[in-house]
Amino acid sequence: MNETILIENGTILDGNGAPPVQGSVLIRGGKIVAVGAGAGPGPGPEAVRRIDATGQTVMPGLIDAHCHLSFDDAGSNAEIFHQRRDALSALVAAYNAKKLLRAGVTGFLDPDSTFENMLDLRDAIEAGVTAGPRMACGAYALITGVGGTAGRLIADEGVTGYYKVVNSRDEIVREVRRQVKIGVDWIKVHVTGIIPRQAQRGEVCVWTADELKLLCDTAHDLNTPVMGHCRGADATKLAAETGFDLIFHATGMDDAALQAVIDRKVPLAPAFTLQANIVDYGDRLGTDRELVALFEREITDSADTIKAAYRAGVPLLCGSESGFSLVPYGDWHWKELEVFVRYFDMSPLEAIRCATAEGARALRMEGRVGQLTPGFEADILCVQGRVDRDLSLLGDSDNIRRVFLAGVEQDLTPLPPRKPIPGWRLAGMGSMLTREVALRGPQAEPFTVEELH
Ligand SMILES: [Zn+2]
Repeated sequence: MNETILIENGTILDGNGAPPVQGSVLIRGGKIVAVGAGAGPGPGPEAVRRIDATGQTVMPGLIDAHCHLSFDDAGSNAEIFHQRRDALSALVAAYNAKKLLRAGVTGFLDPDSTFENMLDLRDAIEAGVTAGPRMACGAYALITGVGGTAGRLIADEGVTGYYKVVNSRDEIVREVRRQVKIGVDWIKVHVTGIIPRQAQRGEVCVWTADELKLLCDTAHDLNTPVMGHCRGADATKLAAETGFDLIFHATGMDDAALQAVIDRKVPLAPAFTLQANIVDYGDRLGTDRELVALFEREITDSADTIKAAYRAGVPLLCGSESGFSLVPYGDWHWKELEVFVRYFDMSPLEAIRCATAEGARALRMEGRVGQLTPGFEADILCVQGRVDRDLSLLGDSDNIRRVFLAGVEQDLTPLPPRKPIPGWRLAGMGSMLTREVALRGPQAEPFTVEELH
């Protein structure tokens, strides 16, 4: 923490969108104290550790605004709801947190967790008990009795997996206050859910405006922001109007929803990485082509409104939705940046800004992390090559040469491989051996995005 470090000869990206500059970054007491061509320790007798970053990009660490570290790359909600154990899932999450560090993630927001145990991981990381990125987290995601995105798997009341049902105004107030007491950084709400019998409508808003307003007012009175999972125009509009501080997904906005988001400049985290992975690798997973097209349409149908929000000054944050098997920890935290470039017409520098300076909002640390600016926390990556020219460099862990968290260099040696944990995954009999499969080979597995959140 007290080491003075000079990272020299790198290409510096400040995280705030400024053009790259060649130069140095000086770190002292865990903070950035000087950046640029002339940055240096001064003439005094101070001991300085010099690091040569020739050929490397020096940039702020990535901040993943949507990563479920208690889910452990689950293949389904059923696995998360029924196969996980409290202490063990927290221990496994501690292992996975180290994967994030090795992938250049120095901060992330965990929206909701089984057993609410990511609060424990956050506190353990902050206390130095185990290594991991900076963490902000919610607890159980609040839903109404209508449900969330797992249909009848969710009990009518109480807790199921990462969900908690609140069935009355009293329960809303009581649960928000309880979560604040146990130490959440955010309250997570599933504003939309899927009604199995009405699945053709897609996700629908399962709250009234009054209920959302009560929830936000209760949380805000206790200095706690609210984040919501919203698909569809009605839910996004309601969330923006009732005071939500961060909206995930925000797909399918109409003009009114877009205006509500713009009026209040509510940050959005689309978290399209999972869909983009299906688009890019669906053929390798054996995903049906029509389903791949459906996933791509979820991105393209919403690209214009999300772009319009961004152009009107709405912050966009990068979230990976890691925690599910389609976005395993450590591999895809960078990919949302590429999605922003490909589908939202951003420059790489703009996308980097979303994943760093803007990402700080997810940690509730705006103006303190996410930029290489004097006075900021020294959360820094040294990446081989020019990241501003090729964002995919971030995807290869061999390129992540150094990671600093509050000025402390992190251990990037490969993790020892894990062995299977008994009873951890949801057992299945595998694909159905229909006569069609017997004659023609494997068919695409049925899979719907509504299952995920
Ligand atoms: Zn999620």
